[in-house]
Amino acid sequence: MAFGARVPGTVEHELCGDWLANQLAQYGAQVHNQYGTMPNYAGNSQPLRNIVAYLEGNTTKAILLCAHWDTRPWSDEEEDYDNRFAPVPGANDGASGVGVILEIVRQLSLLKAQGASIPSVQIVFFDCEDMGSPRHYTGKEREDTWCLGSQYWAKEYAKTIATQSPNNPIQPIIQYGILLDMVGDPSATFPREYISATYAASYLEQIWRTASRLGYSRYFVQQSAYPITDDHYYINTIAGISCVDVIDYKPNTETGFADWWHTQRDNMQNINHQTLQAVGETILTTICSK
Ligand SMILES: [Zn+2]
Repeated sequence: MAFGARVPGTVEHELCGDWLANQLAQYGAQVHNQYGTMPNYAGNSQPLRNIVAYLEGNTTKAILLCAHWDTRPWSDEEEDYDNRFAPVPGANDGASGVGVILEIVRQLSLLKAQGASIPSVQIVFFDCEDMGSPRHYTGKEREDTWCLGSQYWAKEYAKTIATQSPNNPIQPIIQYGILLDMVGDPSATFPREYISATYAASYLEQIWRTASRLGYSRYFVQQSAYPITDDHYYINTIAGISCVDVIDYKPNTETGFADWWHTQRDNMQNINHQTLQAVGETILTTICSK
């Protein structure tokens, strides 16, 4: 958050990306930047940078942990039209998921140093998740203008898996994935979202059961939600990895999200350390269990 809004193409974005890559490397992960382009909402070529890392574990399990690290260039849910052209600060929508994953990786590296058994973890911070058609855009709105970084990564992953030699694999086979998106609100509730429940039911059950055992059922609720367009959709459908989305959903609002969503109020005031703790502990416990 200290870098400012992480809008693709800005210096804040570039510096924050370098910092994230460096943090992951400090925890002992192998890091590489995946650069690419995707068509954006207006049909122009959008450069993107996914930050991809691999922390080698000491069991046969490999798990994908991911979140988007970009912030939306427009606060287009602001009531006042003039306020819609400033970037979203992105404390929840972006930074919260990335922050929790960084801490999980740090914890895993400490556990590994102590000789505990940990799974291998593929980490991906996706770029350009939040570049979908803004409300002021008058052209045709398309769902696939969101999640550009994950679409790119998923296609590359599928290609690598299809062509790599089984004797000398470049890309480890991932058992399942967990996506974190907007996981810091004091009153966050994570529903059993439809795409996750369809493609990754058993992993969803495992996460929700772990949360309940740890006393975090007030966050990981027994409530279903309609399909939510998010990075996990492409991970499930293009990469072929079962992936669960842990996303804050508010069934009683017009947008389905908290009132700060895509506004200037998505700032540190709506970040609560207990929520971050609940999510981090639940995910770490789940991935380290047999
Ligand atoms: Zn967003």
